[in-house]
Amino acid sequence: MHLNPYGEDAVKLAADLANRRPTTAEELADRCRAAGLVVDGPATPQDLERAAAVLDAWEKVVDAVDERERAELLNRMLAAAADHPRLTDHSGDGWHLHYRDDRQPLGRLLCSLIAVGTALHLVGRGMHRLGRCAVAECTTIFADATRTGRQRYCSQRCANRDAVRRHRARHAR
Ligand SMILES: [Zn+2]
Ligand SMILES: [Zn+2]
Repeated sequence: MHLNPYGEDAVKLAADLANRRPTTAEELADRCRAAGLVVDGPATPQDLERAAAVLDAWEKVVDAVDERERAELLNRMLAAAADHPRLTDHSGDGWHLHYRDDRQPLGRLLCSLIAVGTALHLVGRGMHRLGRCAVAECTTIFADATRTGRQRYCSQRCANRDAVRRHRARHAR
């Protein structure tokens, strides 16, 4: 996975992992690989533990009450996770930037990737473009990469569900 200027893949991976937490180190590694991340070596229970801590911190960024708090929480993640940027060609498919040393364990790598990817997404597309589905009983997190930046639901299914409900509520009166 290369961090594109909008951090889209990284922030989407964070949402995917937060919405359905991996339960084993193996599952964590598999899902990171499926998202396009180069994972060298097997993941360990420490990676899983570290990933859980990163996702906990990241969910606080998602649930921040305003932009300032969101920025502050994310800055804390960046300070803990991101190293100086460096050029790398570790996967042999082109030079790109990493905000960490080469050969980090997966948990540490996710720290850096999620913090930097989320920062790029928010400053590139808009600080409000991270949230939870507007359907009350659905707490699914989404990163809004739509053209308009007005996404309110995690999926079309939830959007339809809410439209039907609002329609019924109007006609029940
Ligand atoms: Zn890379
Ligand atoms: Zn939803």
